[in-house]
Amino acid sequence: MTQFVRRVDKMSRIVIPAEYRKNTGIHEMTEVRITESNGKIIIEKLAPLCKICGATENINQEMEVCKDCIEKIKAL
Ligand SMILES: [Zn+2]
Repeated sequence: MTQFVRRVDKMSRIVIPAEYRKNTGIHEMTEVRITESNGKIIIEKLAPLCKICGATENINQEMEVCKDCIEKIKAL
């Protein structure tokens, strides 16, 4: 496992190493969940959610809306 050392800045921010971002699919504006366990901070990419109903499956990545909601909108 590659290890990186980062210094927390004045605003309490750290940069996630590019290699980790690439490997985990975390990009600019990706929502992440941050939890703490036994003194370790865990950052996880959130599954994309439908902006309308909150579903986690069949999400159109570009629109961030699920297939069912797209069909409902089309039927209006
Ligand atoms: Zn939906």
